[in-house]
Order: sequence, then C-alpha cells, then structure tokens
Amino acid sequence: LCLSVAPGSLGFVLLQASQFCNLNCDYCYIPATERTQYKFMALEDVKTIFKKIFTSSFLSPDGLTILWHAGEPLAAPISYYEDIIGCLTDLKNELLGISYELSFDMQTNGTLLNDAWIDFIKKHRIGIGISCDGPQFLHDRNRRFWKGQGTFEQVLTGIQLLKENNIDFGALAVITPETLAHPDEFIQFFIDMKIPHLGLLPQTPALPGQNMSISKQEFYEKSLSFVRRIVQILEHSSYKVGIRELDIVARELFQQSHEYFIETEPFTSISIDINGNFSTFSPDLLGAPSKKYNNFIIGNLLQDTLESAAQTELFKTIYQDIQRGVDVCRSECDYFSICRQHTPSDKYAEHVAFNVSETYACIFSQKVITDVLLDKCGV
Ligand code: SF4
Repeated sequence: LCLSVAPGSLGFVLLQASQFCNLNCDYCYIPATERTQYKFMALEDVKTIFKKIFTSSFLSPDGLTILWHAGEPLAAPISYYEDIIGCLTDLKNELLGISYELSFDMQTNGTLLNDAWIDFIKKHRIGIGISCDGPQFLHDRNRRFWKGQGTFEQVLTGIQLLKENNIDFGALAVITPETLAHPDEFIQFFIDMKIPHLGLLPQTPALPGQNMSISKQEFYEKSLSFVRRIVQILEHSSYKVGIRELDIVARELFQQSHEYFIETEPFTSISIDINGNFSTFSPDLLGAPSKKYNNFIIGNLLQDTLESAAQTELFKTIYQDIQRGVDVCRSECDYFSICRQHTPSDKYAEHVAFNVSETYACIFSQKVITDVLLDKCGV
C-alpha cells in the first residue's frame, strides 16, 4: 500500500461555525443534543487554526475554498462572518499574498435567508448550496422545524430571494425511498423553479450499521428507473437543470478534468468542528462514532498541525484501512475505473468497516448514473 501524503493538495476546508440548527430533519447525522447548542467557534480560534492551514505544506497553491457546513451556518449573526472573512483575508494576504485565491461557500437549509443575508452573500460572493428535497409533499416529510411543522414555504421564500437577486446557487436534495417513487413530480419542481444546479444525495443510514428498509437489488432497480425518467424529462424540457452526479460521472467517462476533492486521498479536504477537532478523507467521517478510529478525529488544530496529525498511528491506520477498501473495490467492481470517490464515509456508515465495496450510496451515485449514461450513448 502506498500511503504518501501529497504536498499542495488541500483545496477544501469544511468548517463548522456552529453545531446549532433551527431544524430537526429526520435523517440528520448530527446528534440532536449537539444541534440545540447555540455556540460558535471563537474568532481567535479561527485565526489560530487558519494560521496553521495557510502555512501548511499541504495547502494547494491553486486556492482554498472554505465551506461552512454541518449545523445551520445562517443561525450565526452576519457580523460573525464579517469578522471571520475580514480576519482570514488579512491573514491570507499577510502569509500567502494578495493574489492567493480564498473563496467561501455555505451549505444552508435556506429558512433564514433574508435581505441582509442576500447583501452579505453578494458582497463576499459566497457560493450557496441550499438543501431542498423537492415538492412540498417530499420536502416536508423529513425537513421540519423542531416543533414538527414542515419548512417548505420558508425554503421556497429563500430560493425566490436568491433568484430575484440573480445569485447563482445549487440545490441539494436527499433522495429517500419516497422520492424514488415520484421522479416526475421531483424533477418538474426543480425545472419549474429554474434551479440551475442540483445535487442528488441518496439517503444513507443516520447511524453506522443502521439497516436500510429496501434490498440493494430493489434499490438499484428503483434508482435506475428514477434516474432514467428524470433524464428523459430533462431532455424534453426547455429549462435544463444541471445534475451534479451526471456531470461527475460524464467527466470520468469522457476523461475530462475534475475539480472536486477525492475522499480516499488524505488532505485534499479537511473537516473541522467548532472545537478545532479535525479529520480528513470524507467530510462526513468527522465525529462518526468509532472507538477504533477515535471518531475519526486525527488531531486538534488549536494544538496540533496538519503535518503532526499526518504522522500519528491513528491517521496511518485510517489511511491504510481506507486504501484496503479501495483495493476491495478494484477487485470486485466493474465500475472501478469510472468511480473516483469510493466514499469511505458511506462504507463506514453502512458496514462499520472500510474493507468492503458496494454501498447504497454508490449504487445510486456511480452504478445507476453510469448505466443510464452508457445506455444513452448506446453502449
Ligand atoms: S461503485 Fe461502489 S463498489 Fe464500485 S468502485 Fe465505486 S465505491 Fe466501489
């Protein structure tokens, strides 16, 4: 096994501003006890952490994207982000120079968007991803406030605000077994809303090892007819919603360049929680319950550096086990040459192990999407 860490590869930092969320979605993987704590990472801590990142040999020379994610980022005041962006821009200019590209993204549930946030998003050119599961009957099944009412109306208002202000954004939809039964209503909603980019995230177990209610064969068949149908509808639609998963697989199939991070390669992205604990590989691994892997916390950036974490036995064990999983994929799966991510977090969530191949998530995001695209090309 080759376990080297390439310098200059870190292009994404997923940063948790707060664990707090104003929603209580059924499939959320962050424990409810954490999502009710209204506290934020201190500005001084952000500064300490990014001083280490900006001076790390792992940092990409091509720029860094900071994505606020996990917990609802818009639950923090705008002034909090103004302070952080100002502080990080100054620090970046001092340590890396004015021409180094630093960009900011937010993944939000969209319910708190208002005119003040819109001004902030425009001012700092924040990339926005908004979580929306489609039409109201699908969205409100799982995406609800703490008191139980659905969030669809508020999300729709947020989307309208983004559109009225010509802000380019993407939507991210969790695909549940119910969604698979309603491809027409699902994709027509995004066409009618003129959503430019859409990510499809198959629902995975909220806790490692939790069973899914549908067999893999049935899931493959239902996913195949779902994706075939949405592609068919999009082909005949005057408005084209760009589907992220189709684009990713098409790029692999036609060997075009890719700009996303690779979940099996360390330090192409890191995830940092509000206490400075951090992890690498799949973002969702950070905090996933695991005694063997210390909940995938490989260090704390208030005390450690990226380089010191890369020397620990824990990091090496995680890296080695993830690479063994890639080897299992290589020997068992016909889609190996197309599949790029081999998503370690999905393997762990489903099997509580890495040395396995197929997951529900890869059936949807790799196998079904590849089969639909090859079918379209007459292969
Ligand atoms: S499609 Fe699934 S099983 Fe196949 S290589 Fe990718 S992760 Fe592994």
